[in-house]
Amino acid sequence: MKLLVAVKRVVDYNVKVRVKSDHSAVETAGVKMSMNPFDEIAVEEAVRLKEKGAVTEIIALSAGVTQAQETIRTALAMGADRGILVETEVALEPLAVAKLLQAVAKKESVDLVLLGKQAIDDDMNATGQMLAALLGWPQGTFASKVEIADGKATVTREVDGGLETVELQLPAVVTADLRLNEPRYASLPNIMKARKKTIDVVKPEDLGVDVTPRLTTLSVAEPPARKAGIKVPDVATLLDKLRNEAKVI
Ligand code: AMP
Repeated sequence: MKLLVAVKRVVDYNVKVRVKSDHSAVETAGVKMSMNPFDEIAVEEAVRLKEKGAVTEIIALSAGVTQAQETIRTALAMGADRGILVETEVALEPLAVAKLLQAVAKKESVDLVLLGKQAIDDDMNATGQMLAALLGWPQGTFASKVEIADGKATVTREVDGGLETVELQLPAVVTADLRLNEPRYASLPNIMKARKKTIDVVKPEDLGVDVTPRLTTLSVAEPPARKAGIKVPDVATLLDKLRNEAKVI
């Protein structure tokens, strides 16, 4: 069984994001970039499924600039078998990424596509759902547990106020939520081994996909700075302020 896992290169989650001075986008020059955290969880799940014998090959795909190869290398060091970089300078929207993944999923005849539930840079939460629609495959989004047996995936989903368990006929699309697993750190020997693994580089045109953006970003702004708080000397003053200034009690 072949598994395709999507890994996006994003601004590292520890970095304080800054907006470009012309408000056109977020600043990425000279900023530490890493694998999208939900994609690390997706890769970890893929590797665990392979370790359990449910999966035979894991292909890690990233779409974006040349440096996204580093993100693929991280996936290879965690245990993916080979990589595909769909190289483009175009800022990709979820529909474009979904079309690229669709083309590769078909070409490689994969049985399962694993994605993160959301990329932490654009917060779209759309690519997995669009991919499932394009392929006409069942989807299990926000997965906190995945089991594969008898040509089916059983996916436990985190929904408002609880858990929902769904059964999907493979091939299917699954998106990883935070509590699915704790991703491993790649060991040094595995980082060395990953250097020898193959990464194929293709262009969107090679896959017959037009990635021209359909949306125009009008403006990007930082959230308004929070006003400084004050310290009150005692509970009586606090109550007085809540009652007479904030008028909330
Ligand atoms: P989004 O819909 O943008 O929030 O992204 C959801 C998931 O789609 C991510 O967690 C990734 O698994 C995948 N994805 C989105 N963009 C890319 C990309 N450029 N390359 C690879 N995977 C991507």
